[in-house]
Amino acid sequence: MSDRIYMSSPDVGAVEEEFVMGAMRSGWIAPLGPDVDAFEAEVAARIGVTHAVALSSGTAALHLALLAAGVGEGDVVLTSTMTFAATANAITYTGAEPFFIDCDIASGNLDPVLLRRAVEQLREAGENIGAIVPVDLLGKTVNYTDICAIADEFGIPLIADAAESFGATHRGRPAGSFGLASIISFNGNKIMTTSGGGMLLTNDGAMAARVRYLATQARQPVTHYEHTDIGYNYRLSNILAALGRAQLTRLDEMIARRRAMRDRYREFFAAVPGVEVFGGADDDADNCWLTSVVIDSAVTGWSARDLSDALLEDNIESRPLWKPMHAQPVFADARALTNGSSDRLFASGLTLPSGSALTKEEIERVFSRATEFLGARA
Ligand SMILES: *Cc1c(COP(=O)(O)O)cnc(C)c1O
Repeated sequence: MSDRIYMSSPDVGAVEEEFVMGAMRSGWIAPLGPDVDAFEAEVAARIGVTHAVALSSGTAALHLALLAAGVGEGDVVLTSTMTFAATANAITYTGAEPFFIDCDIASGNLDPVLLRRAVEQLREAGENIGAIVPVDLLGKTVNYTDICAIADEFGIPLIADAAESFGATHRGRPAGSFGLASIISFNGNKIMTTSGGGMLLTNDGAMAARVRYLATQARQPVTHYEHTDIGYNYRLSNILAALGRAQLTRLDEMIARRRAMRDRYREFFAAVPGVEVFGGADDDADNCWLTSVVIDSAVTGWSARDLSDALLEDNIESRPLWKPMHAQPVFADARALTNGSSDRLFASGLTLPSGSALTKEEIERVFSRATEFLGARA
C-alpha cells in the first residue's frame, strides 16, 4: 500500500525546529514566557487588532470569548449550522442554547437573510440573544458587512469563529478583525499550527484582560491564591508559541502553496461537467485552507462517495463537507432555521487533499488517481 496522503497535514521543517529549540534552550519551559508575548504581538499586528490572547485551542478561545461577552444560561446563541462541532460545543459549555442557521449554497457561509429572520423572531418572542457566532467556512469569510450590520442594529455581541480563515480577507480587511472578538485555531490540520492552540483577537482591552484572567485559573492579584470566579487552565505554552512564531514567518508561503493546489483542481475539474470547485470563483480573498468540490451526480453519473472510494484505493484521504449541526444526533433537540442548502452541500461536497506540505509526487498521485477514476467512468 502507498503511504497515506492526508487532506491537510502539518507543514513544519528547519525553521520550526530552530524556533522550538531556541525556546527550550532559553529555559522558558514553564507555560508562559517571551515567545507567548511575542507570538501574541505578531499575530495582533498581522490581523490589525490591538489585543491577542494565546490559548490552548480555538475551542477554548471560543468558550472564553462567549463567557467574557456575558453569554450564559438562559441565552440563545445564533451560529452557522455548517461548521465543525467545536463551535456548537463551546456555546453549550456556557450553558447557552445554540440555534443553528443555514447557509448560502455558493459559499456554505451563514445566510444574512436567514440570520435577520431568526433575530427578529427570537426578539419578538422575548428571548435573550447572547451572541451571534458566524463561522468562516474552509477559509472563506462570511459576509461580515451584512452580518456585522445586523449585530449592530440589534445590539448583539458578535464573536467570529475565524478558526479556519487566518490569512483571508473580507473587502480587504483581515479575517479575525471583525466583531467584538474573533478566534483563530492553530490545530494540527489548520493553515498554520502550534500542534494545538488558538487565539482570541479583539480591540476591546477589558475583554482581552477578562479572557487572560479566566484562562489562568482566575487568580486574584494577591500572593496567596484567592479566587472569586471559576477559572480555566487554557493558556498556550511558551514552547508551542515558539512553533507558532516560526509558522507565522511562513504563513504567506503556505497560503500560496494551498492556492496553487486550488488552481490545479480548478483547471483539472473545468473539463468535467457536473463538478465545481466549492466556494465561488474569487479565491483571492480566501486563504484556500481546504479545497472541496461539489458534484451534481445527475450530470456526472457518479457521486462524491464514488470519487472518495476511488481515492481511498490509493490511500488518499478525502471527506464530505462538515455534517450540519442541525443534523447531528447530539443537537437533535436544538432549534434551527434551515433552507436545505447545508444538507445539499453535505450530500454533494467532497474535500480533497489541500495541504501545503504535499510533495510534488503526492500531488501527482492525487491527480493521476482522479484521472484514472474519470477515465473509467467516461
Ligand atoms: C478547528 C475549528 C475549531 C476549533 O479549533 P481547535 O483549535 O481545534 O479547538 C472551531 N471552529 C471551527 C470552524 C474549526 O474549524
